[in-house]
Amino acid sequence: MPSQIPDVTLNNGVRMPVLGFGVFQVPAEQTEQTVTDALAAGYRHIDTASAYQNEQAVGRAIAASGIPRDQLFVITKLWVADAGEEGAKRAFDTSLRKLSLDYLDLYLIHQPFGDYYGSWRAMQELYKQGVIKAIGVSNFYPDRLIDLIDHNEITPAVNQIETHPFFQRGADHTLMTEHGIAHESWGPLGQGRTDLFDNPVLTKIAAAHDKTVAQIALRWLLQRDIVVIPKSVRPERMAENLDVFDFTLTGDEMALIATLDTGASSAFDHHDPAGVHWLGTARFE
Ligand code: NAD
Repeated sequence: MPSQIPDVTLNNGVRMPVLGFGVFQVPAEQTEQTVTDALAAGYRHIDTASAYQNEQAVGRAIAASGIPRDQLFVITKLWVADAGEEGAKRAFDTSLRKLSLDYLDLYLIHQPFGDYYGSWRAMQELYKQGVIKAIGVSNFYPDRLIDLIDHNEITPAVNQIETHPFFQRGADHTLMTEHGIAHESWGPLGQGRTDLFDNPVLTKIAAAHDKTVAQIALRWLLQRDIVVIPKSVRPERMAENLDVFDFTLTGDEMALIATLDTGASSAFDHHDPAGVHWLGTARFE
C-alpha cells in the first residue's frame, strides 16, 4: 500500500490531501479507467473542470470505486463562459449532476476573466448552503487575488496556479501564505516537458536519492508547502508520483532547485490580450 498522504488544513478548517490527481487532457473515453486506476493506486483527491469535458467519467469512476464519499476530495472548476451569479449557479448544478455527487469539496473559478465577481457571490452562497465545502480560485495573479479578497466577504481557500521548477511563484506564494490561501500547483511536472526530465540539476539530485526527476519535482513542491496534482494515465507513473513521502531534500538541494526559476510561464501568458480573448470566447459543452 502507498504511504499515507498527509492533509493540509484550509483556512475554513476543511482538510485537503497535499497530493492529488489531475485529469486535464485525459480524453473522456479514457477518464473512467484512468481515475479508477488512480483511486486504486491510493489517490483520494481528484482535480477536474467543466472545461476538461470529463466530469461524467470522473463521476462514474468515483461511484464504482465504493470509496466512502467522506474519504474523497473532489475539485471541479467554473469556466469563463459560465461566469456571473446566475451562470455560476447553473454551471455548479450541471457539474454536480455530471459528477453524480451531492456536494463538492472544492469549487474553483478557473480563470480570472469575465464576471468572476458575480461567480464569487454565487459561490459564497453555495458555500453557506453547505453544497460546497470550500471555495477558491485558479490562475489568479497577485493583483487580481488581492482585489477579490478586498471586495468580498470570503477569502479563497485555495489558488491553483502553474508552479514547477521553471516557474516557482515565490512572490505569489508569500502573498497567499500571508492571506491563509493554500497554494496548489498545476503542471507540477512542467506538463511533461522533456527539458525538465533532462535537467542536469534535477537528474543529479534524483540520482543522489535513488528517485526519479518527477519525484524530485513533486517533493520540492511539497517541501515548499505547495499542494500537487500530477497527471498520468500510466499506473506505474501514478504509483511513482505517490511515492514521495519517504525522503527529504536537503536545504542545499532546495537552494539548487531554486536557481532553475525562469520567472515565466511555460504554458500560457495570462497578460496576453489574444490569450485572454481566446479563454473568454472558448466554449466547452
Ligand atoms: P503535469 O505537470 O502533471 O504533467 C503531466 C505529464 O507529465 C503527463 O501527461 C506525462 O506526460 C508526464 N508525466 C507524469 N508523470 C510522470 C512521471 N512519473 N515520469 C515522467 N513523465 C511523467 O501537467 P498537467 O496535467 O497539465 O497538470 C496537472 C493537473 O493540474 C492537470 O491534470 C489538471 O488537473 C490541473 N491543471 C489545471 C490548470 C488550471 O488552469 N487550473 C491548468 C493545467 C492543469
